[in-house]
Amino acid sequence: MEFELSDDHRLLRDTVREFAQQEVRPVAEELDRTKSFPYDIVARLGALDLMGIPFPEEYGGGGGDTLAYALAVEELTRVDSSVAITMCAHTSLGTQPIYLFGSEAQKREWLPLLCSGQRLAAFGLTEPEAGSDAGNTQTRAELDDAEWLINGAKQFITNAGTELTAFVTITAVTGGGREISNILVENGTPGYEQGTPYRKMGWNASDTRPLAFTDCRVPEANLVGRRGAGLRQFLQVLDIGRIGVAAMGVGLAQGALDEALAYAKQRRAFGHSISRFQIIQAKLADLTTEIEAARLLVHKAAWLKDSGRNFSLLAAQAKLKTGRLAVRAAEEAVQIHGGYGYVEEYPVCRFYRDAKILTIGEGTDEVQQMVIARALGT
Ligand SMILES: Cc1cc2nc3c(=O)[nH]c(=O)nc-3n(C[C@H](O)[C@H](O)[C@H](O)COP(=O)(O)OP(=O)(O)OC[C@H]3O[C@@H](n4cnc5c(N)ncnc54)[C@H](O)[C@@H]3O)c2cc1C
Repeated sequence: MEFELSDDHRLLRDTVREFAQQEVRPVAEELDRTKSFPYDIVARLGALDLMGIPFPEEYGGGGGDTLAYALAVEELTRVDSSVAITMCAHTSLGTQPIYLFGSEAQKREWLPLLCSGQRLAAFGLTEPEAGSDAGNTQTRAELDDAEWLINGAKQFITNAGTELTAFVTITAVTGGGREISNILVENGTPGYEQGTPYRKMGWNASDTRPLAFTDCRVPEANLVGRRGAGLRQFLQVLDIGRIGVAAMGVGLAQGALDEALAYAKQRRAFGHSISRFQIIQAKLADLTTEIEAARLLVHKAAWLKDSGRNFSLLAAQAKLKTGRLAVRAAEEAVQIHGGYGYVEEYPVCRFYRDAKILTIGEGTDEVQQMVIARALGT
């Protein structure tokens, strides 16, 4: 494995780092406080070719690899998780199913719009009765007069209700023997409703809603990929998505460390900067070491995928490790800020709220442990 980043990777990372510092950091607190979806930032990410990094240029994508994508996600999350998950969910969950399984016509219709960030896409797997147990899909779609007639509900769907959202791809039971298929439903289709956004603990500027389908009709041609292959497709997409979410964990931990280090150097107690105290130094030293190790895990998962090897185990390990690290790093960063870490003027307060979802979304820690234990042959 090559541990040195290529010039292209470094250039991309530095470009996103500068963008995050100059364009995202100044507005992150306000977006979070006002729970405002970051439309301007999405437009600028699109203009920089960052809304479709891992897709081929012939479809309007950035032509990058998974490592490039992970580097960009890390740099955004280092500053703001809401912006990062908006880009990340759009890319690895919204766009990926069309790229991997869509017909040529679906790819030509949608990928250029999605990769440019002009439109967003969402991924509808979770339901009230189907979270970790994703195969327990209750949403049904029956073929009726060359249309799918859809009834059911989805829960916690990211990017589904923004002004830019083009469609959601959903899992639905389409036949006996729990045949589950992947169907594309465009926003604006009668019978498809996006509910009110949740009041969340964090990711306040990202869009997350419940969805309802009531006698909703879409053309038969909105089937994505083969009939009956839907659940397998969604699980494959989640495997890839885990690398992105793991990169978010590294980014959040690194951002928390950045803030904690800067604060520790300027905060004085007992006549010294608190960064002079060995207990504070030990916390910072542990964090930077853990972050470096976690980053390597993410890069290895990305590298395995990019070299066409099986990456599922590494993606699950990276997701498990980085989610926990993000939670811990955010907590330590708040601790190092003392009382100031508990007030919203300091970014670590937002980081602390944003971290927890990283041990839950795109497969809980317990689900990652199941995947990893299975690979051990248990
Ligand atoms: C902000 C946010 C954004 C999201 N975005 C999306 C999205 O865009 N698309 C989408 O489809 N979903 C999305 N989700 C849903 C998310 O992926 C699920 O919440 C997650 O997979 C867990 O499912 P659940 O909430 O139903 O929990 P459950 O599956 O009910 O789990 C509850 C608890 O039981 C544990 N558990 C379950 N089964 C087992 C088992 N066999 N062994 C041991 N423990 C187990 C879990 O680990 C967890 O601790 C989002 C969620 C949130 C909060």
